[in-house]
Amino acid sequence: MFESLSSGEHLLRLWLVLFLLTGLAVGVVSGYFRARKIQPNGFRWKTFRNEIVFAAITLGISGFLIGGLQTLFRKWGWISFNGEPAAWWRIGAEYALYFFLFDTYFYWLHRLMHKPALYRWIHKIHHLSVSPNPLTTLSVSPLESLINGGFVPMFLAVFTVHDSTMALIVPTNIIMGLYVHSGYELMPRWWNRSWATKWFITATFHDQHHRFFTGNYGGYTTIWDRLCGTMRPKFEADFDRIKARTKSPVPQRAGSGAA
Ligand SMILES: [Zn+2]
Ligand SMILES: [Zn+2]
Repeated sequence: MFESLSSGEHLLRLWLVLFLLTGLAVGVVSGYFRARKIQPNGFRWKTFRNEIVFAAITLGISGFLIGGLQTLFRKWGWISFNGEPAAWWRIGAEYALYFFLFDTYFYWLHRLMHKPALYRWIHKIHHLSVSPNPLTTLSVSPLESLINGGFVPMFLAVFTVHDSTMALIVPTNIIMGLYVHSGYELMPRWWNRSWATKWFITATFHDQHHRFFTGNYGGYTTIWDRLCGTMRPKFEADFDRIKARTKSPVPQRAGSGAA
């Protein structure tokens, strides 16, 4: 039996999936994830069920609208990509431009969505989840997903970036969304102490926005929250407390006989 040329690619994908699944299984069995759970008793089946419904509605409506908008913009020539090879610093600069502009856009619109007049109509559905899980990423009203998802087509209409930059933007969006709603703190203990990393949000940062409702509005960075004084005052102490649990991931039992 002759396979197509892409069979090697399929095999590689299969290996990657198996690798990730094995990693997840080892993580579950070893207690790795349990020790890093931000709100250990936060999961509610009822909320999860609602999230499935809202995620399906939003994916259908906004996937259609944003996809359609992007296709239309490309057809009209509003969006085009630079397909020429580019130096790594050029791709880095374009990516940084997207990263900080989206962060600014998200922070200010997110704060606006918390104003009572807008909250009910746009942002309330997303806040039904007090203890987020990855599905919470998609559990937003169609209007909110249009506001957030509309940034990329608008950005691409203003700036012509290289296709390699675009290849970085899409996964960033997906990975950040899933990570900050994961419910698990996977970043190292020193994250908020280092001047290089403390500017980037972690799962605990956004988890606290869901748990306490106010503060920590940033989407990618803590910059605007630090500048505007909207970062939760106990956030860094709470982060340290959650990470301290990972020092002894196995719960201490009487007579465990550890050396
Ligand atoms: Zn919010
Ligand atoms: Zn959220």
